[in-house]
Amino acid sequence: MSDLYGDDPDLFVAGMAGGNLGVGIFSFYRYDPSLSFSTEDWFDVEHLDNVAPSDRKTLILQRSCKLLVHEINHLLGLDHCIFYDCCMNGSGHLEEDFRQPIHLCPVDLRKLQTLVGFDVLTRYQQLVEFYEKHNMEDEVDG
Ligand SMILES: [Zn+2]
Ligand SMILES: [Zn+2]
Repeated sequence: MSDLYGDDPDLFVAGMAGGNLGVGIFSFYRYDPSLSFSTEDWFDVEHLDNVAPSDRKTLILQRSCKLLVHEINHLLGLDHCIFYDCCMNGSGHLEEDFRQPIHLCPVDLRKLQTLVGFDVLTRYQQLVEFYEKHNMEDEVDG
């Protein structure tokens, strides 16, 4: 729950993975919907009370799951996706990050299946159970 920096021009980064090193690092700090900051004063952070605690918890979990899937897939050797709206799309800022779907596109799903091996139907059934358990309604529908 702290900012990470990868290089001098970075304001902050949510996650980085060194696939050849087998190391990933993540920050969930900027995923908190009650956190307010402007693009000019990104370091001047304010916590607002405008988000219901249950919504806040669900949104942080949803955003964190997306980041973990994205970075773990990098660790497994998957690159950024240029084919579809996909959890493996690259993102340059938070709005872009938040817009990305939690799911993999068919191309990356197949790559992941080849790398780690799973039954696609079972995977999605388990994902629906997880989403329902954690009140991630948009993901259940998507
Ligand atoms: Zn990436
Ligand atoms: Zn993809």
